[in-house]
Amino acid sequence: MTPLTLDALDWLRPNLLGGTKLVGVMGWPVEHSVSPPMHNAAFRHLGLDWAYVPLPVRPQEMPEAVAGLRALGFVGANATVPHKRMLYDLVDALSPAARAIGAANTLHIRPEGLLGHNTDAAGFQRALREADMPPEGSHTLVLGAGGAARAVVYALASSATTVTILNRTVAKAESLANAMADAMSAPASASIEAGPLDRETMARYSSRVNLVVNTTPLGMWPHVECSPWPADLPFPREAGCYDLVYNPRRTQLLRQAEAAGAAISDGLGMLVHQGAEAFELWTQQSAPVAVMRAACEAVL
Ligand code: NAP
Repeated sequence: MTPLTLDALDWLRPNLLGGTKLVGVMGWPVEHSVSPPMHNAAFRHLGLDWAYVPLPVRPQEMPEAVAGLRALGFVGANATVPHKRMLYDLVDALSPAARAIGAANTLHIRPEGLLGHNTDAAGFQRALREADMPPEGSHTLVLGAGGAARAVVYALASSATTVTILNRTVAKAESLANAMADAMSAPASASIEAGPLDRETMARYSSRVNLVVNTTPLGMWPHVECSPWPADLPFPREAGCYDLVYNPRRTQLLRQAEAAGAAISDGLGMLVHQGAEAFELWTQQSAPVAVMRAACEAVL
């Protein structure tokens, strides 16, 4: 990350008057989160007297932290690694997406109680449409079966697509496929299957899929030379490639896909749109997506 300049700090600075509404992000660690500049830029752009703060919370202190946010009058908060499952367990009610995914990344503190949402799934859907990769009717290969994959598979299965999850630990891919099939009433045309993340299986699927989504951290800084796609396996040129990694923007996987002539997109769109969904839940206003994206790009 490049250091923030004074100009950048100027749009980070909220008014902090008596009526300032507060939101933030709970994580451990949290200091590298781009959510504070992203949301504060949006508040400033719309002239809203709101502030978004980083909230470093140790995992064992999540119950006290969430109770503290309510006591302090926060409107809500985001939860990032490793707190999404814990937030799920601490709220009074869950959105259908959070319930199916088994994790909550957004807290909305309402008079009636603590509401847990998962905006990663909707954020991913919005990002796919923005990248002109509509999932409807497609066959998608999801690489990885961790926390982010749960939101991705939920979003894809909601869009009546066939999903094949490939993971290094096959049992986790199978467990995710079963959990998603059970947890949601997937459209009849959707099917979810699982397999190993190995060259042979990827070669078998590569001619059939329309979309490849990387949900593993392979290729993320500082291991930028890594890719989940084998170097000696041609990337399917008719398929789109969505990489959830956004640091660096152009991963080795995206380079492979681009070289094959495939359409590509990095993970910044998902990051921005999951934030936009949370912003809209809290403020009930349309999020200035372009402003939020520019703020992320400035700090990444
Ligand atoms: P996670 O829960 O730890 O899951 C990681 C997944 O990657 C697991 O399936 C794991 O396989 C696999 N994996 C890890 N190292 C591997 C390796 N060396 N070889 C093969 N597979 C490997 O992590 P997560 O929370 O899902 O996050 C994954 C990535 O998505 C991160 O880069 C994160 O920054 C990114 N992300 C982006 C957004 C966005 O908005 N763009 C949102 C969320 C996450 P095993 O099960 O075998 O361990």
